[in-house]
Amino acid sequence: MSARLRISRTHYPVHALGPGNRLTVWVQGCTLSCKGCMSLDTWPADGGVEASVTELAALWRSAVEQGADGLTVSGGEPLQQADDLATFLTAADEVRREVARELDFLVYTGYDEDELDETRLAVLALADVVVFGRFEVAKPTKLVWRGSANQRMVPRTELGRRRYSGFIDHAPEKGPLQIEVRGNDPWIIGTPRKGTLRNLDRSLKSVGLRVTDTTWRP
Ligand code: SF4
Repeated sequence: MSARLRISRTHYPVHALGPGNRLTVWVQGCTLSCKGCMSLDTWPADGGVEASVTELAALWRSAVEQGADGLTVSGGEPLQQADDLATFLTAADEVRREVARELDFLVYTGYDEDELDETRLAVLALADVVVFGRFEVAKPTKLVWRGSANQRMVPRTELGRRRYSGFIDHAPEKGPLQIEVRGNDPWIIGTPRKGTLRNLDRSLKSVGLRVTDTTWRP
C-alpha cells in the first residue's frame, strides 16, 4: 500500500465532530479560501506531514480497538487529495468490516455536491455522511457539527441515515467543542460559533495571556 496523504494532524478521541468518540484526520491543503476560515494552517499543500495509508489505517485500527464509534475526515480540503483519500477510506472500510460494531465515516468537504467530478464523487462512496459546502462567515449557525448555515449534512448510507438523521436540524444551545494541547500548542476541535474565538482571545487577555499566533488570523 504505497498511497500517501498529506495531513495536518490526527487525533483520537475526538467528540466534537460527529457522534461518539472518533478518530479524526485533518487533511492538509485547501485552495478554497473561505473568508473567516479558522484553519489557515491547513491551506498550504506542502504544509503538514506526509502519512502513508498504512500508517493511517493502523491509527484507525488502534482507535477501533479502543472503542471508536467512527472516523471523521476534515481539513483542509480532503477531496483535493481524492485518489489517496479513496485508498485510505477503502483500507479503513476493510478494518470496520472485521469488527462486529457499526462504525461510521463522516467526511467534510468545502465543495458543494454539484461541483464534484466523478473522481471526487467516487471518494464519497464509502462515506456514511458528508458535510458539503464552504464556510460562509456571514451565515452563522447553531446547527451541530457545521460552521455555517449553508453547509448541508447529507447521510448517504443506511447507517448514516440511522445515526445522523436526528442531527440534521439539531441546534443545541451549546455546540460541542474540544480543546487539546500538543506540546506548547493548544488547538480547538469542532466548529466554533460566531464570536467564540473572539471571546476566547478576550478571556485569555483578561488573565494576562496574549495569543500571538493563531490559525484563524493571517
Ligand atoms: S473552511 Fe475548510 S474549505 Fe474553507 S478555506 Fe478553510 S479549510 Fe478550506
